[in-house]
Amino acid sequence: MTDRLAEPLTRAVGTRSAGPLAKLGVETVGDLLRHYPRRYGDPGRLTDLGGLALGEHVTIVAQVRSATVRRMRNRAGAILEAVVTDGPQQLSLTFFAKSPNVLRYHEQRLAPGRHGLFTGVVGLYRGTRQLTHPDYKIIGMDDDAEDAESAVLEASRPIPIYPASGSIPSWKIQPAVRTVLDPLREEDVPDPLPDAVRERRGLGTRLEALRDVHEPYDEKQWRRGRDRLRYEEAFVLPAARAQRRARAAAAPAPARPPRPEGEPGILADFDAALPFTLTQGQREVGREIADDLALARPMQRLLQGEVGSGKTVVALRAMLQVIDAGGQAALLAPTEVLAAQHARTLRALLGPLAEGGFLGGAEHGTRVALLTGSLGAAARKEALLDAASGAAGIVVGTHALLSENVQFADLGLVVVDEQHRFGVEQRDALRAKARTSPHLLVMTATPIPRTVAMTVFGDLETSSLMEIPAGRSGITTHVVPAGNPTWMERTWARVREEVDAGHRAYVVCARIHPDEPDADAGGTGHDDFDDVPDFLLDPEAPDAVERPPLRAVLEVAEELRAHPRLAGLTVGVLHGQMPPAEKDAVMADFASGAVQVLVSTTVVEVGVDVPEATAMVVLDADRFGISQLHQLRGRVGRGSAAGLCLLVSTAQPGTPAATRVETLARTTDGFELATVDLELRSEGDVLGAAQSGRASSLRLLRVVKDADVIETARADAAEVVAQDPDLADHPALAAAIREQLDPEREEFLERA
Ligand code: ADP
Ligand code: MG
Repeated sequence: MTDRLAEPLTRAVGTRSAGPLAKLGVETVGDLLRHYPRRYGDPGRLTDLGGLALGEHVTIVAQVRSATVRRMRNRAGAILEAVVTDGPQQLSLTFFAKSPNVLRYHEQRLAPGRHGLFTGVVGLYRGTRQLTHPDYKIIGMDDDAEDAESAVLEASRPIPIYPASGSIPSWKIQPAVRTVLDPLREEDVPDPLPDAVRERRGLGTRLEALRDVHEPYDEKQWRRGRDRLRYEEAFVLPAARAQRRARAAAAPAPARPPRPEGEPGILADFDAALPFTLTQGQREVGREIADDLALARPMQRLLQGEVGSGKTVVALRAMLQVIDAGGQAALLAPTEVLAAQHARTLRALLGPLAEGGFLGGAEHGTRVALLTGSLGAAARKEALLDAASGAAGIVVGTHALLSENVQFADLGLVVVDEQHRFGVEQRDALRAKARTSPHLLVMTATPIPRTVAMTVFGDLETSSLMEIPAGRSGITTHVVPAGNPTWMERTWARVREEVDAGHRAYVVCARIHPDEPDADAGGTGHDDFDDVPDFLLDPEAPDAVERPPLRAVLEVAEELRAHPRLAGLTVGVLHGQMPPAEKDAVMADFASGAVQVLVSTTVVEVGVDVPEATAMVVLDADRFGISQLHQLRGRVGRGSAAGLCLLVSTAQPGTPAATRVETLARTTDGFELATVDLELRSEGDVLGAAQSGRASSLRLLRVVKDADVIETARADAAEVVAQDPDLADHPALAAAIREQLDPEREEFLERA
């Protein structure tokens, strides 16, 4: 049934178009139909030429003003210079050839007054923006309409503008789409939306929607088609999550109920020794989790809480409940630095309770094992043994915990810290470590707007810790213009003051070596991702044009060591290319105060907890994402002294980069920041990154603007899955879900 859609384009449209399309990731008929127009040109309305960015591949509608061929002055050959306009503004087009005759053809077609579509990369020549050798199509001339009437009709239709490339312009994609779309019948295009849902929501079939977006006669039509396809995206993902959740819930999990009140145990001992009182939020969330663990089906819970809201204690108490019930808990952290820190923190929080089996350990004690990839053989063997024997009630680690030879005696709970670094597959792999399904608690400090939570995390229940424990004095944030020497002086003076007051300071840089190129860190392996700021992973980073080189850890550390303001202070260095033991040593020195200023990459971004740190200076702050800056800022102001965050920026006012840092300075509310962040990203970006699989990407859905659609579609999806959990009566939906869940394609929300 789906054969038509699986047909390779080499066969469907021929190799000449198929080749360049394959480079865009479009290989089958189905891919091509999902290659939706980015926008629509209105043949009667010209593109605003003022909005074109240098270096961008653009397709525009414009009117020809002039076109002249002349011989070149200084060398052989001829040049055709044409000027096109949107009314007030102009853009020049240049074509070169050996002889003027070759160019006469273009000169005739580019007659003044004609409207055309022009495509190319925007360049700059002597201060004027231009397209060199653009591809173009004159409206009304190059259509293959058979008579005058249909020519007029054709010429007035919205022009689908496809994501295109230098090797295939948008208007050559359009006929290819037509070729595959026109012969299709309803039965060729399976519709994941059940008929009942379509009827209830007044939506057309999938095929109708495809015709609407690819071959519209007017704006109303493409809007209708786009809305229907958006709805579909908002429907399929939650349906997949609902199904996944139903399946996981159906797997048996041993109940791990808390011990009855008054009965001794490690949790009771821990609570009795806790040096602070739990916040109300911690108690409430703690109860939700305790209740979940008491059930004989696996908990699947997302705990989101502001940086510093005290998630660790909540997670630890859940682990202790499981240990009391005879099980073990695993804690997964995104980096070795964090895993080591978690192990330290847990041991410190547990005190004598972490010395189970040792002389002087508490009666109900257990052990915390740390298992990371970099352990020495002996330490590794001991940690593995402790995990396998059950002597370690808590095993902390990174991805290494997922490796095959780690065995647990009775894994009852998996806690994943900083969720956004982990994929669904890794969650599954760890779950598979337990003989039965373990309970799962996922923690994130990246606030997740409700709509994203519903779509991407639909298989998890959500708990939130909104309040920050009392006794924190808050954080002040300022934007520092990098080019202003007085401000920069003041920045280092402030660092000095903080250190003199007995505190410590972070200085974060975007890269490690001064001579490493700015932008090609994109190929970095997964393991040292903590050193790669978000924007470097984004090949289409918008503001990568002309700017001073990024400051680097090694260079800045040298400068600060020599800086008169900081004379006498100990400046340490931390980055992902250092051996793990060195990283640990530096972190320990920073925690103890032996190092007072830590120059670091974004390694410190997540979860690092040094309460004495009060100052956070971020260099090139404008090149970081909002959530990343929010995370970095969360590293200070964790103790009783007020925090100070200085965002050093080179962003021009009015740019999205400037808006990002200004927003950070304006608010510390994580939810507000997350919303602004989503709004600043381009459409589809957010979930696009979440679902990077080509075919399964959410292409049209916008997580902020389409909140209503997302809510409605999710409710519809939940209903369908509840009535037909195996989707036996909904084969097209089942197939669409299988495609979503293709493990290679299912990636995670990395940059929410
Ligand atoms: P996060 O939610 O960012 O992971 P942590 O769990 O690291 O936050 O907690 C931050 C700090 O606050 C830790 O030093 C922790 O011991 C402390 N803390 C946690 N809960 C409380 C509380 N109820 N009262 C006071 N301090 C707390
Ligand atoms: Mg934490």
